Amino acid sequence: MDVIIGKTIGFCFGVKRAIEGAKEILKDSDEPVYCLGELVHNREVIKDLENKGLKFIDTIFQSKGKTIIRAHGVPKQVYEVAVQAGIKLIDYTCPKVLQIHDIVYEYANKGYFILLCGTKQHPEIIGTLSFCGENVLVIENEEDALKSVDIIEKLNIDKCLLITQTTFSLEKFFIMREIIGNELPKNIHLVEKNTICQTTELRQKETEQIAKKVQYMIIIGGKNSSNTKKLYEISNKYCGNSVCIQNKSELPIEEIKKYQTIGVMAGASTPEESINEILEVLKNIK
Ligand code: SF4
Repeated sequence: MDVIIGKTIGFCFGVKRAIEGAKEILKDSDEPVYCLGELVHNREVIKDLENKGLKFIDTIFQSKGKTIIRAHGVPKQVYEVAVQAGIKLIDYTCPKVLQIHDIVYEYANKGYFILLCGTKQHPEIIGTLSFCGENVLVIENEEDALKSVDIIEKLNIDKCLLITQTTFSLEKFFIMREIIGNELPKNIHLVEKNTICQTTELRQKETEQIAKKVQYMIIIGGKNSSNTKKLYEISNKYCGNSVCIQNKSELPIEEIKKYQTIGVMAGASTPEESINEILEVLKNIK
């Protein structure tokens, strides 16, 4: 059996920085350390951090001390509450996400209407929305893109910014850009910014390349990880025999045995240990 392993698999820069930073803080801290939301969308990593003493909370109001902000970022109100409550924040928001916050804030202040491509319930989008002011719409699909054009026309808007979540699908962003570019009246000034992070873009391209070559494709990553889901969608489009698993216990070994060429990709929050364990099992399949 031939196994093609993606070159871009493993933690991305933002996730690595947050996890290593959290571990360092836990080593040195003699007081409780909190983390607002899951630090990464990966059960194994979360369990490990919990064992090291990290306390996961859902809202900043549950914090009683030092609190870690994860790579996705948070709404700006969280910073305000922390200042008022005297909570020390350790901010691991990825610089790529912070850059988007700065861009939308700048354009919102210049009077632009913001069209934000992304998943409505994703924490990164929820955080970014808080920097956009009132004039913003989230675009998840073609239907949203068409609706947003109608709304903008009715509101007499004269300038718009089209921008995207860091882990949005590149292919989908191009589709949204085309719809909005074609449908928006030409007198409305449109600024487009592709803010999909390079790591995400490279992983998506590599997933497509591998999926086109193999008979069976394995995507490793958390079920609630946005970038893993996107990789699975891309993989499934080009290789109908695609599966998304979190760890080696979920490997469909009997199914895999039917194929000669297997591709392996992993999301940005998948730890190396999980990937290596799965590769080891694959190596031993007869
Ligand atoms: S996927 Fe990109 S934007 Fe998101 S944490 Fe990783 S490096 Fe940062």
